[in-house]
Amino acid sequence: MTVAPGIIDNHTHYDAQVTWDPLCTYSCYHGVTTVVIGNCSLALAPAHKEDRENLAGVLSHVEAIPLEAIQAGVKWSWETIPQYLNTIDQRLGVNVASLIGHSAVRRYVMGDASQERHATDEEIAAMKTIVRDGIEAGAVGVSFERNPRHFDWDGRLAPTNLAADSEIFAVAGVVDEVGRGVIQCGGDRKLGTAVAKNSRCPVFYGNITQAAVAPDRWRQQLEETESLMRQGHRAYQFVMPRPGDLRYTLRTAQHFDAMATWKNVMLLPLEMRKEAFRNPATRIKLHKEAVETPINPNLAGDFTRRWDLQFVFRPALAKNQHLRGKSVAEIAQEQNQDVLDAFLDLALEENLETEFERREVNSDEAAMKALLTSPYTIIGQSDGGAHVVFRTDYSYSTYLLSHWVREKQIMSLEDAIRKLTFIPASLFGLYDRGLVRQGMAADLMVFDPATISPLEPGEAHDLPGGAKRRKQLARGIEMTVVNGQVLIEKGEHTGAYPGKVARSAARQ
Ligand SMILES: [Zn+2]
Repeated sequence: MTVAPGIIDNHTHYDAQVTWDPLCTYSCYHGVTTVVIGNCSLALAPAHKEDRENLAGVLSHVEAIPLEAIQAGVKWSWETIPQYLNTIDQRLGVNVASLIGHSAVRRYVMGDASQERHATDEEIAAMKTIVRDGIEAGAVGVSFERNPRHFDWDGRLAPTNLAADSEIFAVAGVVDEVGRGVIQCGGDRKLGTAVAKNSRCPVFYGNITQAAVAPDRWRQQLEETESLMRQGHRAYQFVMPRPGDLRYTLRTAQHFDAMATWKNVMLLPLEMRKEAFRNPATRIKLHKEAVETPINPNLAGDFTRRWDLQFVFRPALAKNQHLRGKSVAEIAQEQNQDVLDAFLDLALEENLETEFERREVNSDEAAMKALLTSPYTIIGQSDGGAHVVFRTDYSYSTYLLSHWVREKQIMSLEDAIRKLTFIPASLFGLYDRGLVRQGMAADLMVFDPATISPLEPGEAHDLPGGAKRRKQLARGIEMTVVNGQVLIEKGEHTGAYPGKVARSAARQ
C-alpha cells in the first residue's frame, strides 16, 4: 500500500449537500479528505430569511442540482458566513474549505436589485465588509463568475453577472488587503486575467480543455497562463484529467443533432429510425453530413467528424466482442468498408444497443501530458455536488492515478500526488494539510497503486426527495483518514465524523 496525503478537491459545489450529507458523497470514496465549496460566486451564506429560496434557485439552476433536493435537504439556520461555517462544522465527514460567493453577498446587500443593476459605492463598501469578515472567520477566498448562461429558474442572471469590472476589482481586492486567500473568477477569461493582473493572490480564472473540435486552443491557453506567470501574476487555470462522460448509443445520442438529416432521423421512433439508417438514399445524406462536409467551428455542438475518436465501448452481441475498444475508423479499415457503413451496420445488427464512446475531449495523450505536468496548471475542477444527473468528474483523482499515471505513465505517482494534495493546500492557504509530516493534520489516503481506479458509474436515488444522480465509486483504496480518524475503510463509511471546516491562514 502507498500512504499519501488525502486528496484536496479544489472546486466543488457541495454548499447545500454538505448540510444533509456531511461525507460529501461521492467524492469521499475517491481518497478526498478536503473539498473547497463556494465556487462560481454561488453559496448559501450570507442569507436573509426571505432570500433563501432565491439562493437555492440560483445554485440549483446554474449547477444542475435538483431543486427539490435542496428544498427538502437544507435546514436553514444561519444568516452570516461565520454562522454557516460554524453550522456545518458541527458534523463533517471530510474537511470543508469555503470560498465566499459573490452572488450570495450581492443578493444579501442588494436584494432583487442584485439581479438588475450595477452596485452603488455604499453597496460595494457593504460587500467588502462582509467578505473581510468571512475571510477573517476562515473562508479561503472569494469567487466570481461572468457567464451569460448562469441564470436562475426565472431566467434572471445570477447576481455576480450584473457587477461592473470596478465592483469585482473592489470586492476581490479585499483578499489582497487581508493578505490571505484566493480569488476564483470563472467564465469570462478576459475579466479573469484582468483580475489576476490586479492581485498578488492566486487567481483561478479558467480551465483548459483539449478538444478535437479546436485542436490548437489548449496550447494557446497554456501559453497565456505561462506568459502571465512569467510576468509575476498568479493566474492559474484548471485541467480536468477525465475525458467526460461521453458514452452513447444510437438510441440516445445527441451529438449528431447539429446536422439536419441526422437530427430528423434521431427524432424518429426506434423502428422508423432503424429503417432510415438502412435506407440507401438516407444513408447518402447522412454520409454527406457526417463524413464529407467538414466541421463548422462556428456551429455550437457540431459533430467533429472524427471517426477515429468514436470507439466501441461495449458491443451488445457475443459475436462482436472482438470489436471492443476499437475505433470506428479502425473497424472500417479492417472490414474494408466506409466508416459510416461500418458504424451504422454494427449498430443496426445490435438493435442500436451498441455502446460507443467518443474520446474527443481531454483524451489526446501528448496534449494531456503537457497540460497535466505543466507547473502552471492546477489539476481539478471536479464540480463535485453539481451536474449530479450527468457527470461524475469527482472521480478525477482515481482516474488520474489509474489512467494517466499507471497505464500511460505520463507522470510519476509522486508528482501526481503532489498536484492533487500539496499544491492546492498551499495555494488555498490550508497551512496544516497536504503533506504527511509531523504537526500536520492526519489526512491520509492509503491505497494500492497497482489497482486504484474508478469503477463503472451507476445510478442512485439517494438525494433528499428521492431525486436520482450518477454514482461512481472506486477500487484500490484501503482507507481514507481524516484528522487522524478512519472515515472510509474498504469502501465503507466507518460511522466517524472527523471532518472540520478547514479555515484559512488568515484565521490562524
Ligand atoms: Zn463551478
